Amino acid sequence: MNTINKIPCPNCGGQILFDPQLLVQGESFYCNTCNASIGISNQSKDQAQKAMHQFNLLKKN
Ligand SMILES: [Zn+2]
Repeated sequence: MNTINKIPCPNCGGQILFDPQLLVQGESFYCNTCNASIGISNQSKDQAQKAMHQFNLLKKN
């Protein structure tokens, strides 16, 4: 299953493709346009995983 998602780049407004499962594991992803990175800190991982769980529940509905 393809789990790739897109979020707007906070720097240039372009699209950053990311895999939420890798994101919550601490991977960083980069904007193709301006090379800005997105990612989460170790302290945020637990919170992010909870948020992602909620997100996945929402997607099913
Ligand atoms: Zn960008």
